[in-house]
Amino acid sequence: MQAFYSPTRIIAGDGAVAGAAGLIQKFGKTALLVTGKASARVSGALDDVIRVLKANGQDYALFDRVGPNPSVETVFAGAAFSIEHKCDFCIGIGGGSPLDAAKAIAAFAAETPKKEDVFLHIPKIALRLVAIPTTAGTGSEVTQYAILTNDQEETKTSIASDALFPALALLDPRYTVGLSVETTVNTAIDALSHAAEGMLSVKAGEITDALAIDALGLISSRFSALRAGEFTEDDRRALLLAACLAGQVIANTGTTAVHALGYSLTYDRHIDHGRANGLVMGAFLRAVEAKSKRSVARILRAMRLKSTEDFCVLLEDLFGKVSLTDGEVSKYARKAAKTKNMKNLIVSLNEEELSGILTASRAGGAYGKVW
Ligand code: NAP
Ligand code: FE
Repeated sequence: MQAFYSPTRIIAGDGAVAGAAGLIQKFGKTALLVTGKASARVSGALDDVIRVLKANGQDYALFDRVGPNPSVETVFAGAAFSIEHKCDFCIGIGGGSPLDAAKAIAAFAAETPKKEDVFLHIPKIALRLVAIPTTAGTGSEVTQYAILTNDQEETKTSIASDALFPALALLDPRYTVGLSVETTVNTAIDALSHAAEGMLSVKAGEITDALAIDALGLISSRFSALRAGEFTEDDRRALLLAACLAGQVIANTGTTAVHALGYSLTYDRHIDHGRANGLVMGAFLRAVEAKSKRSVARILRAMRLKSTEDFCVLLEDLFGKVSLTDGEVSKYARKAAKTKNMKNLIVSLNEEELSGILTASRAGGAYGKVW
């Protein structure tokens, strides 16, 4: 038996925002626009959205204070802003950070939890949401997750609820053209990790596998572009589509050890999300391969790679290694072992094995010697 749920209407292609004007008109009277500092403007997405809203006769209020790895404070400020401006729907524009913040804001504007309950509270209602990605990685535009910085637990924690699925995702690859090489690579590898982790989840099925294999194929066809740091319009289109497919995968499978370990690298060491995943994913795949060779072989085949060694070389070319003290290795492994992400993985990896993955990922570590 398998279950698959993906309720977001997707419109993809050049001019997606203008093309969705009629749909947007039905969302409400006043839009809350949630963005980061620059991406929504630089990409041209904000202008396109405002043009549509004006033509539709809809009002808007702009909350452009979302930084990377959004905090609980930012989300509460956004919810208060939304209530103050009487917004009745929400449009998130940007990378995963503004999109995740938009989801949490849309929920907290509809029903505000106590601050101390943020990570316990499961939102039941939210303002209707439109998601417009300007990075090609998180797939947040089609997931029910809003990932926020959790200072109490010193990590990043996901709020998950069907109420957080955007009703509409508008994917215009032109918005990703201005992305730096670094963010393009980081986010592409985040999408890759979603697809690969999704295939190694106990919740995977034929539907998620089909999407994941397609996403891995699209991204791997761009490995040389990622290595060279040069991207054509077609590369941008392929990466944005792959990220969206991989987002639909994790909406159904969840993520596993790569994300569980990566969150500590981001929280403690301020390493970007996709890069954090990329730094540990090679050693992770080796660790899983030692327990389930067939599962990893399917992932390698989808990426048209011969071996995990080739995969490790690719990731090391893109990201290098991470410097970690012994103390950091044990702290991050301990934290990851306790996450619910680990329960999704088809093989069990204990704290010692998670330490092994981190040790193999750090500068001076050696792939293959740990296991
Ligand atoms: P991000 O934090 O949203 O953005 C990274 C940087 O790229 C920011 O400085 C941003 O600028 C800039 N940027 C974005 N789009 C741009 C564009 N088109 N042109 C120029 N600059 C641009 O990065 P992200 O990797 O997309 O998102 C990471 C977050 O998503 C993490 O918090 C992660 O935990 C979360 N995530 C969520 C899911 C999910 O299912 N919800 C899945 C995976 C990851 P601005 O500051 O102007 O925005
Ligand atoms: Fe991710």
